[in-house]
Amino acid sequence: MNAKVWLVGAGPGDPELLTLKAVKALNQAEVVMIDDLVNPAVLEHCPGARVVSVGKRGGCRSTPQAFIHRLMLRYARQGKSVVRLKGGDPCIFGRGSEEADWLGQHGIEVELVNGITAGLAGATSCGIPLTLRGVARGVTLITAHTQDDSPLNWQTLAQSGTTLVIYMGVAKLAEIRAGLLAGGMNPAMPVAMIENASLPTQRECRSQLAAMQDAAATFALQSPAILVIGEVARTSAQLGMSQLLHG
Ligand code: SAH
Repeated sequence: MNAKVWLVGAGPGDPELLTLKAVKALNQAEVVMIDDLVNPAVLEHCPGARVVSVGKRGGCRSTPQAFIHRLMLRYARQGKSVVRLKGGDPCIFGRGSEEADWLGQHGIEVELVNGITAGLAGATSCGIPLTLRGVARGVTLITAHTQDDSPLNWQTLAQSGTTLVIYMGVAKLAEIRAGLLAGGMNPAMPVAMIENASLPTQRECRSQLAAMQDAAATFALQSPAILVIGEVARTSAQLGMSQLLHG
């Protein structure tokens, strides 16, 4: 059998949000390479495996991507069963496809296993229906952090009629706010900022577009956090969804 690597999403943090497929992959793993945002509690499913931390938080001590690639290849070629475990979903701002391509080019079979992405989990865990019928015609997942710092098309985003779910936005609040206001979004557009979504440490800050930066500062919002911007962020866990529509 060819060497194989499982590229697995660990979900947003709550270990109960792992998929059965992820658990199955972990059960048979001999080596598990994990990112910073993976909750170590999920490692209970691979008690015998060697665990290698290869996290790289923006701006901090980091493991170069090339090193991660080579390490996966080395273990796979040793015939070890390798799980590459990533926070959320491996292909939503997770470089899963880059790693899969690279492994494929080196003759390693890859199996991708979905995880629940933080944006969806964050919204659900505070009662926000991202595509509420009659309110949002879709949802747009965006990263505020690009490799080349190229600007987003804020005008298109502001006028898309979709709920915006922004990843890696904590350090970019000023830019997001200014961009969307300049793009014509209503300054009173509801915003939810959800820190540590799905974990016992989850915190949630509700505000409006124009006030979001000040609100986040008062709240002392920390990464990792998801921003949900759109009419649907008017709801809260206490409010029924029908109240959003009719209230
Ligand atoms: N692949 C991941 C995203 C990795 S990018 C996924 O699908 O979820 C890292 C960003 O994800 C963070 O900056 C933050 O915006 C978001 N994030 C990850 N876990 C989070 C959590 N538990 N709560 C809030 N945001 C989270």
